Amino acid sequence: MDLLEHRGKSLFAGAGLPVLPSRLAFLPAEAQAAARELGLPVVVKAQVKSGGRGKAGGIRLCRAEGEVASAAADILAMSIRGQAVTCVLVEQAVEIARELYLAISTSRAQRGPLLIFSAEGGVDIEEVARRNPAALVRTPVDPLLGLCDYQVRDVVAAAALGAELAGPDGTPVKQSLAGVVGALWRLYRDSDATLCEINPLVVTASGEVVCLDSKVTIDDNALYRHADLKAESDAGVEDREARARKAGLAFVALGGDIGVLGNGAGLVMSIIDQITAAGGSAADFCDLGGGARAEVVAAALDVILSMGSISALLVSIFGGITRCDEVARGLVEVLGQARVDVPVVVRLDGNAAAEGRAVLAEARLPGVTVAAGAAEAVRLAVAVAAAHAGLDTRRGG
Ligand code: GDP
Ligand code: MN
Repeated sequence: MDLLEHRGKSLFAGAGLPVLPSRLAFLPAEAQAAARELGLPVVVKAQVKSGGRGKAGGIRLCRAEGEVASAAADILAMSIRGQAVTCVLVEQAVEIARELYLAISTSRAQRGPLLIFSAEGGVDIEEVARRNPAALVRTPVDPLLGLCDYQVRDVVAAAALGAELAGPDGTPVKQSLAGVVGALWRLYRDSDATLCEINPLVVTASGEVVCLDSKVTIDDNALYRHADLKAESDAGVEDREARARKAGLAFVALGGDIGVLGNGAGLVMSIIDQITAAGGSAADFCDLGGGARAEVVAAALDVILSMGSISALLVSIFGGITRCDEVARGLVEVLGQARVDVPVVVRLDGNAAAEGRAVLAEARLPGVTVAAGAAEAVRLAVAVAAAHAGLDTRRGG
């Protein structure tokens, strides 16, 4: 389960990691009141579970109180990588001297925790990793030994901080950084996280070390040990991924505009690859799993269509345990009721495929095309998505 930035930061605070005072706001007026309470300048930050908010315009620095409400209103109206912004974090702003990157993630290649540090952090971290991979410190952490002192010293050395630097209370920056690395490791271990990332971890102009961002993922299989987090994930703001999880679906939002629905992770991934190869881009990964009934199909369509920015929907089912006629009934149920204004391409093969196609043929749903096989389905979906996107542009002038 991915945590929103504000939730990750409250875990950070509990683990003794330095974060700035902040308030969560759901309305522009709340954001303005929060800013007044915190004191200007503040940063208004979109709360969505994806990176790249800064580049998408979802992070705004406000120097005057009068700027806060309109910045919050702009951000609350945004959708970032298919996720609608429902709340913003209003946080005290700091003057940044250095942006560092620090993360601990569960690495399949290492078969265990991997500590990653870069002396150059910030919104272009992917670019740093590509351009200068040697600038990154990558150290596997032995889960039995835990993080060792020498590994912390390696990080501090790589940060290349001046010996003379110290915060307002006289704590050397090197010591603050070492404390952050240790606290992040303990948080990762104690919260059963698969990712604890701070980007940027900043050194401020006054020599303090502060976590400006948080990205925390908790292992779903360990949620039973974290009743508070689990309760929030069930009861909290109903986002798409939570709704999908409740319906028993595996769902991941991606950046493109072709909605994808399939059965089986391998099939869905191969469809996404084929879409990319044909010049299109997938909006999501959605796996119905085996033996899905019509209700599950309906729930999946709900989730995908609620993304709002889709130019076409591609349904690709290879029925093994799953019966294609069950899937077809689910499609008819949703597409028949809701006014779905994107073209839909359906591919049904395998178990009860003929019956499934018959169900679709009988329903005569406008905008639904049944393709003969996966290759044709992908080709059609990419073509209709391009045409639909073109129509939208013309409509919008
Ligand atoms: P992301 O783009 O989703 O990773 O969002 P971040 O929380 O990492 O913010 C993006 C960028 O906004 C950071 O790298 C900073 O450069 C900038 N930023 C965030 N908070 C502050 C702040 O308090 N002061 C200043 N000056 N910049 C900030
Ligand atoms: Mn960030």
